[in-house]
Amino acid sequence: MKSNIKGGEFLIKETDCNNIFIIEDFNEEQLMMKEAIQDFIDREVWPYKNRFENKDYKFIEEIMKKAGEMGFLGVSVPEEYGGMGMGFISAMLVCDYISGASGSVSTAYGAHTGIGTMPILMYGTEDQKQKYIPKLASGEWFGAYCLTEPDAGSDANSGKTKAVLSEDGKYYSITGQKMWITNAGFCSLMIVFARIEDDKNITAFIVEYDSSNPNGITLGEEEKKLGIRASSTRQVFFSETKVPVENILSKRGEGFKIALNSLNVGRIKLSVACLEAGRRTITESVKYANERIQFKTPISQFGAIKYKLAEMATKIYSSESSNYRAAKDIQNKIDELRAKGLSHQEAELKGIEEFAIECALLKVFGSEAIQFVADEGIQIFGGMGFSEDTPMESAWRDARIARIYEGTNEINRLLSFSMLLKKAMKGDIDLMTPAMEVGNSLMGIPSFDTPDYSVLFSEEKEIISKLKKAFLMIAGKAVQTYGMELAKEQQLVMSAAELMIEIYMAESTILKTENLVNRSTIAECEAQIAMAKLNLFNAVEISNKKGKEAIVSLSEGDEQRMMLMGLKRFTKYTNNPNPIALRKVIAQKIIDENSYCF
Ligand SMILES: Cc1cc2nc3c(=O)[nH]c(=O)nc-3n(C[C@H](O)[C@H](O)[C@H](O)COP(=O)(O)OP(=O)(O)OC[C@H]3O[C@@H](n4cnc5c(N)ncnc54)[C@H](O)[C@@H]3O)c2cc1C
Repeated sequence: MKSNIKGGEFLIKETDCNNIFIIEDFNEEQLMMKEAIQDFIDREVWPYKNRFENKDYKFIEEIMKKAGEMGFLGVSVPEEYGGMGMGFISAMLVCDYISGASGSVSTAYGAHTGIGTMPILMYGTEDQKQKYIPKLASGEWFGAYCLTEPDAGSDANSGKTKAVLSEDGKYYSITGQKMWITNAGFCSLMIVFARIEDDKNITAFIVEYDSSNPNGITLGEEEKKLGIRASSTRQVFFSETKVPVENILSKRGEGFKIALNSLNVGRIKLSVACLEAGRRTITESVKYANERIQFKTPISQFGAIKYKLAEMATKIYSSESSNYRAAKDIQNKIDELRAKGLSHQEAELKGIEEFAIECALLKVFGSEAIQFVADEGIQIFGGMGFSEDTPMESAWRDARIARIYEGTNEINRLLSFSMLLKKAMKGDIDLMTPAMEVGNSLMGIPSFDTPDYSVLFSEEKEIISKLKKAFLMIAGKAVQTYGMELAKEQQLVMSAAELMIEIYMAESTILKTENLVNRSTIAECEAQIAMAKLNLFNAVEISNKKGKEAIVSLSEGDEQRMMLMGLKRFTKYTNNPNPIALRKVIAQKIIDENSYCF
């Protein structure tokens, strides 16, 4: 059997463009699902945007019920628990297209199907799954996830909520305070994390909630938020809430692991959930830009606006390429583990865990991409963008949360690098050999041959492989300098993480486009090729800046000079791309089509 790439290995291996999934690969069933969702959103959500902005919490519940009736809540739930049993890519597709019109819907959907349902699917006993999953998959019940506390946010394992075993050993009494709980206002089930005695790690419990028989559970008022205004977000107070012992999820003390693994899924799904919002924002922006006349000219004809449209589209296209690439890698891993005899549950858990690094990178890039797109969307609308009467204002407010929940972007940047180092130390990935090779090559004389770059993307692929060398050079030096203390050097780690993000996104975008060209023609893919090249140009610039910062903080004298020379060599094009010309091509395509059309 072909061995699949491991999580994090993209930094040391090349990927064949034919081995990645692109949205043009959606099969008939997936295309039908996509159409059904887009139709649902256009009919049930987009026309009622003002109801979300006016904090109509009941309306979100209605939409979620309808989504349940349409089967959208159970896409990745196995058929034996009332779902459709579709694979990971399909689950990503639904998250993507259901999230385009309102951050409130996207958040309610993501919290319910992700962190509200997945922990039971991944860690539940057969009885727990039989009892709860069909209700969650159909939308009869909704789920919430209670991890965060007033004093336990990013430091999630430090929660004070207690679970005390009853004398007869039949139930736990949970007491404590949770905050920022999505879907709290209309959920019937909560995944609650609490500490038993003085355990090092928290434990997860499945807690039923019925407002007519609250069992010690009270809800705070709805939080007044910057965005996702109709998404229910409340504090949840537990006062001796009785939970049968059989409602422990997995084992005592396993809660932190469950929380982390649930967040892995949550992260990649949040990233994919930013895509359709991005596509719609670009479409609304270009429509406006084509109609708005200033100086007797549609503003879309101005270079300053073309710049924005091109950069916005490039970020979304890049994020899409990367999300579906990772989704396929995860699906492959799940299939591989299934073939080895693991249960669906174990395979899914381990498959996603394997790509935890990519999930963290995607979350950061996707959430920052949508923020950028929404911000530039406002700018294209000018004063009208600042008005509640246009969709840009709410898109901007809704986008902001994505950088905070599912682990802040700071935490995800730090985590991505530390997870990579852990994998290397455990021997899961051999970073050492390629890092030493890079170190040795720095002392050698560079080749002055002029390679043949006539094949599409041959130079770009070489640049990507050089960016990987730049990363290995910097990461290697950082480990050598700080050893086990490296995690404390956060600014340095953040710079290294930035290179990881740029490499993954740039490579995925090139691979997607190469795959696309292979099934059509270079002429038909002119704008996509331009986006792949522009994205790489931006990635090189960012890597240069972050790389330089890391090098000058890590080294001095001759060594510093040698590393800076290395960085220069690793970020050098033979034929510099022309970013202005590339942006013109991309923007013109969007302007001509009057929509995001990729
Ligand atoms: C609208 C909304 C919905 C939410 N939904 C849920 C939910 O359904 N369930 C749930 O359990 N939680 C939920 N959350 C909570 C969310 O996950 C947390 O807000 C988030 O994890 C950050 O925690 P915090 O707010 O306590 O910030 P803090 O942890 O206090 O962080 C504050 C700042 O410090 C930085 N920081 C913290 N620690 C470090 C560190 N070690 N190194 C470097 N920087 C650090 C952070 O990046 C951030 O910039 C939600 C939050 C919001 C706003």
